[in-house]
Amino acid sequence: MSDESRDAGHADLLDAIESGEGYYLACENGHGSLPPQRICPECGSRELTQEALPEEGEVETFTVIHATTPSFAEDTPYVVAVVGLGPVGLTGQVRGVEPDAVETGASVRPTVVETETTGERTIGFRP
Ligand SMILES: [Zn+2]
Repeated sequence: MSDESRDAGHADLLDAIESGEGYYLACENGHGSLPPQRICPECGSRELTQEALPEEGEVETFTVIHATTPSFAEDTPYVVAVVGLGPVGLTGQVRGVEPDAVETGASVRPTVVETETTGERTIGFRP
């Protein structure tokens, strides 16, 4: 798969999350993965179906970012979290909470945010 089609798939996911219709891909063995995928990364199944992403998930792990690449420079400090949503883990910036207040196990909702530095859309979470 080319980089271009991966980007297009990612943009589709952002659009879907933004309109409240986020989804993941499920195979018949119960594995979940994030688009774009054509094959289940865990078992190689090609029978992938789109399933609605749960509206709320739990912070599994997170990192407070104080220094980063220039394209995120104005966003620091910010928190990048891996949030468990059903069978998938989604990575994104946590917004609307002080970095010190983010906790493992906190409930958050996936959303789409713009980075403060470049205005690019990216996956985010809000309490
Ligand atoms: Zn699978």
